Amino acid sequence: MTDEVRQDAIGRAWEDLVATARRTAAEGLVVGTSGNVSVRAGGLVLVTPSGVPYDRLTPEDAVAVDLDGNQVLGDLAPTSELPLHLQVYRNTHAGAVVHTHAVHATAVSTLVPEVPLIHYMAAALGGPVRVAAYALYGTDELAANMLRALRDRTGCLLQNHGTVTYGDSLDQAYDRTAQLEWMCRLWLTAAALPGYSPSLLSRSQLREVEEKLQGYGRPRPST
Ligand SMILES: [Zn+2]
Repeated sequence: MTDEVRQDAIGRAWEDLVATARRTAAEGLVVGTSGNVSVRAGGLVLVTPSGVPYDRLTPEDAVAVDLDGNQVLGDLAPTSELPLHLQVYRNTHAGAVVHTHAVHATAVSTLVPEVPLIHYMAAALGGPVRVAAYALYGTDELAANMLRALRDRTGCLLQNHGTVTYGDSLDQAYDRTAQLEWMCRLWLTAAALPGYSPSLLSRSQLREVEEKLQGYGRPRPST
């Protein structure tokens, strides 16, 4: 890859990353500068910078690090949740990672150790979504807790904090966050009626869905 081609690829990836970050704010998954987004570009990881509102990010603000966390591009500091993003890239084939403080998902993270199987869409995240044990934001401890919760999954909750999902692309990582937030909202809604408790799916019912999804060759349903 020539330097010019590489710079073009990084420029395009940065544009896509900023668009996805803005979408998390526009669609109410984050408020202000909370949450962060990253994407793999070549051997590097592009990440949103710390403390800059997404609508103010320009092409010149691109921030990139290598997989060891060394900053190789940009003047702004990378997100404080960099350890969390890098752990995903080091341990999976993720192409993109989205972290938010979406309100329903974060509420559920304070109530249960695993999101109840309220809907078969849990299969699109690899199974029942776990809640990673609480640790201080931005720490290696939080990244390690998250990695345990992500085993065989493409998303998890962080206790009293928020969501993490990953995917092959920014769109897929974003869609998984939106699905996870929707599923948490669904459970909270169903569980809120006094005197009623929602029916839940069994593990075997979920496995049946997983097998059906795999039969279509893509672990991502549209229905
Ligand atoms: Zn956070």
